[in-house]
Amino acid sequence: MRKTQRFIAGASCPSCNELDSLLVDSVDQSIECVECGFTQTAEERDKSNQAESPKVKTAPKKVEISNIIRVNQLKD
Ligand SMILES: [Zn+2]
Repeated sequence: MRKTQRFIAGASCPSCNELDSLLVDSVDQSIECVECGFTQTAEERDKSNQAESPKVKTAPKKVEISNIIRVNQLKD
């Protein structure tokens, strides 16, 4: 599977708070900040989102990422 990274529009880094600095990996859905080098796996991100605020407005993005994972699993 080809590995690509793309920016997450409108997302800010949890570490340095820089806006639009996060890349998401197409394969494992991990994120990486191009500004400070912060990295987080999809699993860690889900846990931290739930812990910080259940009402966080990143819900649409999370649904989108889940759909991508589902498509990849079907291809495998
Ligand atoms: Zn950062």
